[in-house]
Amino acid sequence: MPAGARAGAPGGRVVPRHFIRMAGSAQSWTEETVGGRSGACAGPGSARQWTEGSRRDSPSGGSPPRREKRRGRMLTKHRILRFIECPRLPRYDALREPGGGADGGDAAGRLHRAQGRMLGEKARTEFPGGVLIDTPDFRVARSETKRAIESGAEVLFEAAFASDSLAARPDILVRERKGVWRLWEVKAGTEVREDYLLDVAVQVHVLERSGIRVRPGLLLVDKTATTESGTIFRRVECGDEARERVPTVRELSREVMRILSAPEPPAVSLERRCRDCEFLDACWPGLPTPNVLDLYQGRGGWKHVDDLLRRGILGLADVPPDAKLTDLQKRQLDAAGSGRPIVDARAYARLLRPLRHPLRFLDFEAARFPLPEFPGQHPYDLIPFQWSCHIEERPGAPLVHREFLWDRPGDPRRSLAEALVRELGGPGSVVVYSGFEKEVLEALAALFPDLARDLRRIEARLFDLLPALRRSYYHPALGRSFSIKSVLPVLAPGPGYDRLAIGDGLEAVWAYFRLIHEELAEEERRALASDLLAYCEQDSKALHAVHAALAREARGGAP
Ligand code: SF4
Repeated sequence: MPAGARAGAPGGRVVPRHFIRMAGSAQSWTEETVGGRSGACAGPGSARQWTEGSRRDSPSGGSPPRREKRRGRMLTKHRILRFIECPRLPRYDALREPGGGADGGDAAGRLHRAQGRMLGEKARTEFPGGVLIDTPDFRVARSETKRAIESGAEVLFEAAFASDSLAARPDILVRERKGVWRLWEVKAGTEVREDYLLDVAVQVHVLERSGIRVRPGLLLVDKTATTESGTIFRRVECGDEARERVPTVRELSREVMRILSAPEPPAVSLERRCRDCEFLDACWPGLPTPNVLDLYQGRGGWKHVDDLLRRGILGLADVPPDAKLTDLQKRQLDAAGSGRPIVDARAYARLLRPLRHPLRFLDFEAARFPLPEFPGQHPYDLIPFQWSCHIEERPGAPLVHREFLWDRPGDPRRSLAEALVRELGGPGSVVVYSGFEKEVLEALAALFPDLARDLRRIEARLFDLLPALRRSYYHPALGRSFSIKSVLPVLAPGPGYDRLAIGDGLEAVWAYFRLIHEELAEEERRALASDLLAYCEQDSKALHAVHAALAREARGGAP
């Protein structure tokens, strides 16, 4: 599924524009981003009223986070970057249990950390003879760093410095002439990003205040490199850009400290960023259900959601008839109002016309990792490792199941492609959900010219159920999600994903990562492989169930 395919892909945090525009004092930052916006929303039922209410009710209100006090209020770059995402996040993070971390303990977080660790280790191999300051205890790390520098170490990994309540642990420091050190920050991304530059600016600020002069740069992943290249990193100078941001870092760190010790959490308004925030319920108690964040955002939909939020409209029931919405959003609103699904059976029947039996319901699992392992592989190449296919020979015939899983180290792509050609050749449509399966088939065809014709024939038979569903169906229980996991319980209730050990594409990629990179007991290996098989089988079975339910609707409910 696409979620799995995105695992490990470059990207992630994007620094909001309002931050980059920021200038002047911490006070002007507060007014511009918080007071200004809230003020603009003032009025009955407005976001401002909402903000005031949430300040009273928020669990983070009342007293500053105690753990932060105990730690002597040392800030890290992470907390500053979280502040840029939302001024409330540093407080929530500070209250979190130790070990939680911003990535949480979920599959995405574990995968992120494991890959970050591997990438860091890979980068260190390019600087032989380095001293690794290998302790999470910051005080111990600082004294080890001091000792290593005094004893003449030429290269330091994960050294520790502190100044002005800011802590820094630069990935790599290389001693140069005349007391200057080369600083490299290792990043999984492939392009320079604003948050990377701020990260380096924090390091520059702290190190230079500690008496260490630095020449900073970024080690980015080079998408054009292959396993055979001497390096997978691209070295990018960023001294000027980082130094330009040092005053901003100083302002931000002061502002974060102020927020952490303030009796009340900062005033904020409900925005896009809140939609997927883990603190949404804690931060906005009493938010109506459904609300405007539940509106579908694709195809220009976000713009309309932003407009509604700016006008202080929160509940779907409060959206006025003159509000600008996409067609799908209008359907959502109608369905929410009536509490009933909207089915355009005629449209769906028309969209289904190209389908030909035997129908094959196909689902892939695939990963993108920054470190290439196989001959000719680039960073972030798509690596499909599993597929499942349910076959319906003729309408109403019992389903036949075929599957493939690569559950060991080594390149899965050739075996996977051959099994695919063997099992999916012949006539009939291949039903998929989203454009992801097409992307996988194209990648395999480009990789194996001798299989390309057969793979492209499969590709030519693809039928994407998702756009057909979006155009002809909506149920209020779907909210903003048309994922197969949301659609299945609505259209075809029954045993679903809840009973499975692996519940989404990212968990599947994490399981695959463990199978190929960890030394596991045989029993655990078998259990993980079996969980993966069950998950992918569920995906293709769900696809059939959803199609069957909609086809029934298209026939006017006839079985
Ligand atoms: S829910 Fe919104 S305002 Fe609250 S912490 Fe998350 S992003 Fe910030």
